[in-house]
Amino acid sequence: MMAALKRLMHLRGELLEEVSMARHVSWRAGGVVERFYTPVDIEDLSLFLQGLPPGEPVYFIGLGSNLLVRDGGLRGTVVHLHAALGDIHFEACDSRNGCAEQDADTHGVVYAQAGVASPKVARFAANHDLVGAEFLAGIPGTLGGALAMNAGCYGRETWEFVSLVQTIDRHGEVHARAPKEFDIAYRHVAAKPEREEWFLSAWLRLPKGDGAAAREEIKRLLAKRVASQPLALPNAGSVFRNPPGDFAARLIEGCGLKGFWIGQAQVSEKHANFIVNLGGASASDIESLIETVQQAVLDKTGVALEREVRIIGDK
Ligand SMILES: Cc1cc2nc3c(=O)[nH]c(=O)nc-3n(C[C@H](O)[C@H](O)[C@H](O)COP(=O)(O)OP(=O)(O)OC[C@H]3O[C@@H](n4cnc5c(N)ncnc54)[C@H](O)[C@@H]3O)c2cc1C
Repeated sequence: MMAALKRLMHLRGELLEEVSMARHVSWRAGGVVERFYTPVDIEDLSLFLQGLPPGEPVYFIGLGSNLLVRDGGLRGTVVHLHAALGDIHFEACDSRNGCAEQDADTHGVVYAQAGVASPKVARFAANHDLVGAEFLAGIPGTLGGALAMNAGCYGRETWEFVSLVQTIDRHGEVHARAPKEFDIAYRHVAAKPEREEWFLSAWLRLPKGDGAAAREEIKRLLAKRVASQPLALPNAGSVFRNPPGDFAARLIEGCGLKGFWIGQAQVSEKHANFIVNLGGASASDIESLIETVQQAVLDKTGVALEREVRIIGDK
């Protein structure tokens, strides 16, 4: 049915069936998705969405660095943006990109599409003498994922810099949206009013500054990560949000759970808010470990840890 749709709609992207999501998530674990579409550009993506049957579940993904698909797999279609939508360029402040013209002396704008890797956005900004986006260098996802998650670290968050975004809806229609059209908080972004739309691109308004210093800062932040995170084993970054005024890692460590494992999934010895795949972990190993940690922390401290990583699909 979908192959016929592809021919009928003259789609130029790649449509695959029965794709293992373990290949597309940083945990390197999990089930199979029924259909997997990589568009060529926004026009192609729009045509694809227009042709989808009304009930078809749709999931957009970037680099899968905050995502787990359960072992039973996922019904519907994954739209994969990392290998697509990769434009990035500099723009002067202009009312059309949400950055007032009178700010043009002090600010500049980076336009990036959702498939661009966040570290590339950080380097691009620094190379154009714009500062503030250095934190994105250590977040190994796409800008689309960073917009969906309000990704952040070291006191900075993605949406602090967003002046405008472009979204696409189920009917393939493209919209320009201002930040005020979203409810934005710590690792939380929701369209208001609620609507089913995905991110295509963003304009990031950044102060002009010392690009060489920004490049040094990127190096410093990356070195800090290498020293504190278990980057040699597959993981999905912080598993839990930090509860107000505290750190999930501190609570987990306090419960003696560093190094605790289920199957091939282990609470990292290096950073207790990371779960690593020791090799061949199932999504169920990882999810069981997440639930066990949540229960242990609740029992011992009374704090209900909330998941930051997204888990989808059937058990
Ligand atoms: C080693 C490591 C370190 C990390 N450090 C940090 C950190 O410091 N701070 C931090 O915030 N995160 C961190 N993360 C988590 C992760 O990198 C971020 O959440 C990242 O922004 C996810 O981007 P992605 O492209 O991989 O998204 P995915 O994992 O592919 O998707 C994540 C969610 O976003 C949705 N999504 C993806 N693209 C779109 C789109 N275009 N439109 C709408 N929804 C979309 C997906 O449906 C899913 O719900 C880390 C992860 C790793 C592995």
